[in-house]
Amino acid sequence: MQVWKFGGTSVGKPERMKSIQQLVTSDDEQKIVVLSALSGTTNSLLMIGEAAKKNEDIAAEKHVNELFTHYETFVSELFTTKEGLKKGNAIIENEFNHIRSLTTIKPFTIKHDKMLVAQGELLSTQIFAAYLVEQKISSVLLPALEFMRIDADNEPILSEIEYRLKELLAFHEDKKIIVTQGFICRNPRGEVDNLKRGGSDYTASLIGAAVRAKEIQIWTDIDGMHNNDPRIVKRTFPVRELTFEEAAELAYFGAKILHPSTINPAKLRDIPVRLKNTMEPSAPGTVISKTQTSSAGIKAISAKDNVTAIYIHSTRMLNAYGFLRKVFEIFEKFKTPVDMITTSEVSVAVTIDNNENLDKISKMLGQIADLEESDQDQSIICIVGSFLADKPNIAIRVLEAMKDIPIRMISYGASEHNMSLLVDSKDKNAALEALNEGLFTFE
Ligand code: ASP
Ligand code: MG
Repeated sequence: MQVWKFGGTSVGKPERMKSIQQLVTSDDEQKIVVLSALSGTTNSLLMIGEAAKKNEDIAAEKHVNELFTHYETFVSELFTTKEGLKKGNAIIENEFNHIRSLTTIKPFTIKHDKMLVAQGELLSTQIFAAYLVEQKISSVLLPALEFMRIDADNEPILSEIEYRLKELLAFHEDKKIIVTQGFICRNPRGEVDNLKRGGSDYTASLIGAAVRAKEIQIWTDIDGMHNNDPRIVKRTFPVRELTFEEAAELAYFGAKILHPSTINPAKLRDIPVRLKNTMEPSAPGTVISKTQTSSAGIKAISAKDNVTAIYIHSTRMLNAYGFLRKVFEIFEKFKTPVDMITTSEVSVAVTIDNNENLDKISKMLGQIADLEESDQDQSIICIVGSFLADKPNIAIRVLEAMKDIPIRMISYGASEHNMSLLVDSKDKNAALEALNEGLFTFE
């Protein structure tokens, strides 16, 4: 059994949806196919929700009508038979009736907003499942709301997902393709909820872990994880292999291709995650797994913006213990994660990416230490690879490449997979380009 997930652009056009049908049926292996909403739909639904929240009924209705027209065209171009088209139209009519009735609820709360945004995945999967039926493919639609569960901290409950899925799948052993929704789930109150933007990747990984799939494939519109941000630097190339640790560092630090939590469930059950390109299915893509055949070294670079650096000084730190605990308790109190940290004998610098409570945090830190003015608009540049502790030249190569760019902080040695640099965001693009040219060789 494999789990294949297709993103919004991979299902966004009728011809793309048709090629997905070809892809998933190109061999005989049973597959769970996880779909995102058609590209643009989630954003539209959020916009409709915004209008509904502000009681802008006319604007909401206008957006709903526009979205409906988009689906009408989509369905008319997808289905090839009269019965198929009839089914497709019935699906969208039914769904849009539901969308319309949701938007008129007053007051329109967050609960309704989550129900509304879930309609994107409910639409794409119903349409695709109906298309599979039309094409006479052995298939079934399994509603994610029947098995995807999160706890009160919004964390997926893998054990519950596993047993629910097992029970449901037992009825469909004979089906070749099992279609389900990415992104959506139920919370402990039984309400419709979601795994946050981009969450369909996470769904695929959770399902893969739950059914102990042979492989999880994430199909997007790029040929795998690149060694650097292709939107910023000139020459990038897809990385063929990454370890779970490397991929997690990259996904967290800004490589937009994967939802940052995706790696965890796959890693837990040691299931390879393969990133593939729907536009170029024969390209090898990137495999994320435990073992690597390639040698150690620098693999990729990514960057994270909107970072704030806080500089804390205290002579009380000298030879004392417990000072760092006091510092971190303050961040804990305001539920603010710390990303990077560097220390000297009398100073600590940390970075955060959530500024919401910066004033309160600074005030409390000021009671136990001297604070220098914090730096906003910083970027963390994360260099990822397998840096074996006895490999001598990683740091020097990085610093050599960065020789013309001011570095605010350096963090190296916490793991064998990461070196992080903090730079002013205005220098980020230059830093990514300089590191790209300095650390990689191009044919
Ligand atoms: N449709 C959702 C989003 O746009 C989930 C996903 O595509 O992964 O964020
Ligand atoms: Mg995505």
